Amino acid sequence: MEPLTEQEIRAAFVNCTKGEAKRLSVPRDLADRPWDDLDYLGWRDPQAPDRAYLVSRLDGGLRALALRCPGPGAQQMRRSMCSMCLTTHTGGVSLMVAPKAGKAGQQGNSVGAYMCSDLACSLYMRGKKDAGVGGRLHESLTLEEKVQRTVSNIAAFIAKVSA
Ligand SMILES: [Zn+2]
Repeated sequence: MEPLTEQEIRAAFVNCTKGEAKRLSVPRDLADRPWDDLDYLGWRDPQAPDRAYLVSRLDGGLRALALRCPGPGAQQMRRSMCSMCLTTHTGGVSLMVAPKAGKAGQQGNSVGAYMCSDLACSLYMRGKKDAGVGGRLHESLTLEEKVQRTVSNIAAFIAKVSA
């Protein structure tokens, strides 16, 4: 994806208040992120281990989500699969919960998905990060097709949160 600036990222959040979007922790090393290999940017908040964020460029523009990882119990210790990139990890998949945008979110509604705990789906798919033995299914899809699938899974997740 095209490199993003901190300002662009903060302006893209759909499911938190403007004040929260202004204060939340955006990576300081944006210039050093491997943008060419990223389909979306995801990160954990180093100060708040239960918070994670992701940003993706969809047809309608940039969309960012604030996510909660409800405690270490939500990390799957048995083998489980990321629902975005379909990588299987032992202990590396977490339930990520996104408060819904707008009124629904204020009323406590949220959408959850099991995802790579480090939000590095793009790197696992490209073999730049190792998920351990059996981490990738043997599939007849090309990398491009897998990327397409992940991008549409992320887009569907963002659409559910925004709906
Ligand atoms: Zn993943």
